[in-house]
Amino acid sequence: MILQADPGRSFKAMEQKIKAAVAKVLESGWYILGKENENFENDFAAYNQVQYCLGTANGTDAIELILRALDIGSNDLVATVGNTATATVSAIERTGAQVRFADIEPGKFTMSAISLEKLLMRQPEIKAVVVVHLFGAAADMDALHEVAQRHHVHLIEDCAQAHGAEYKGRKCGTFGIAGSFSFYPTKNLGAFGDGGAVITNDSVLYEKMAALRQYGWKKRYISEFNGINSRLDEIQAAILSVKLPYLDANNEKRRQIAACYKAGLQDIEEIILPVEPENTRHVYHQFVIRVPGEKRTELIEYMKENGIGCAIHYPVAIPLQPGYEKIPHICDLSETLKVNDEILSLPMYPELTGAEVETIISALRGFFK
Ligand SMILES: *Cc1c(COP(=O)(O)O)cnc(C)c1O
Repeated sequence: MILQADPGRSFKAMEQKIKAAVAKVLESGWYILGKENENFENDFAAYNQVQYCLGTANGTDAIELILRALDIGSNDLVATVGNTATATVSAIERTGAQVRFADIEPGKFTMSAISLEKLLMRQPEIKAVVVVHLFGAAADMDALHEVAQRHHVHLIEDCAQAHGAEYKGRKCGTFGIAGSFSFYPTKNLGAFGDGGAVITNDSVLYEKMAALRQYGWKKRYISEFNGINSRLDEIQAAILSVKLPYLDANNEKRRQIAACYKAGLQDIEEIILPVEPENTRHVYHQFVIRVPGEKRTELIEYMKENGIGCAIHYPVAIPLQPGYEKIPHICDLSETLKVNDEILSLPMYPELTGAEVETIISALRGFFK
């Protein structure tokens, strides 16, 4: 069986180093906010060419911490997109703020600057926008940044699917006030448990987030703010330090797999292939094809019978989910609401072999023959 995601293979690929790093932490007697966390924060800041990185317990908390450090909470409005991981929306709502949706760009999966502008004109109270670099493709940061500046809203980047992705040669997560990351095991940089981080060049924001991450402490046991507990533990930090040096090579493997998929599937008319937006470096967190029409369910079943796992990210747009259907639709969301019925994620991880990629392509060709 070729799984759609297979984080166990990333463990096997570096088994000795991972076990040694974990053993070292266990032997050290220090498990929370120590050397490993600090090392990883420094290395990940350097990787992204920013001044500060703050480890967090997960990617959802990372978004919440940024918003809370910006004093966003009850009675505030925050814009984002409706086709993202639920985590983006749930993080915004946990601050007490309410979500407003902008639409995505036609033919892409990321926020439309035109739609964002319409939203900000209709709801000038909006304080911040969370842009999501979905599936590993950078959103149109020049246009989004320009709109955000003109309307005086904070720009935050959710980079949970975009470790190492670039826009005009610059890393995603460095265009707004701060960028959030998740190290969930299947992400491009994945821990073997939960983990997350924030990157920023803003020292004031960084200090505030550092306090909020641990009960609002600046000094131990003295809370300056009403904070939370969201720390990257030493074991996960040590694992991430082992894996970070391989991130670029692993992203390159994902890109090669994507190139093979594209070459092998380009002449199938029923499939729309993902595009690498101009001026970006796509890191293919997911390889998402579109299958318009009624065939998708049948295709998933066929692939499964052929030992190939596929997935849908995500089956229902957030604005249509029961937990979020009360959020008013301020602007037209037709692109957002359309893609979920067509998308299909093929297996995608650096450890996929060439033979497996060929098997997947053959199966798809067999189905559409
Ligand atoms: C995975 C993910 C998150 C949340 O990360 P967790 O570590 O699971 O909390 C947020 N946003 C997006 C787009 C994600 O893919």
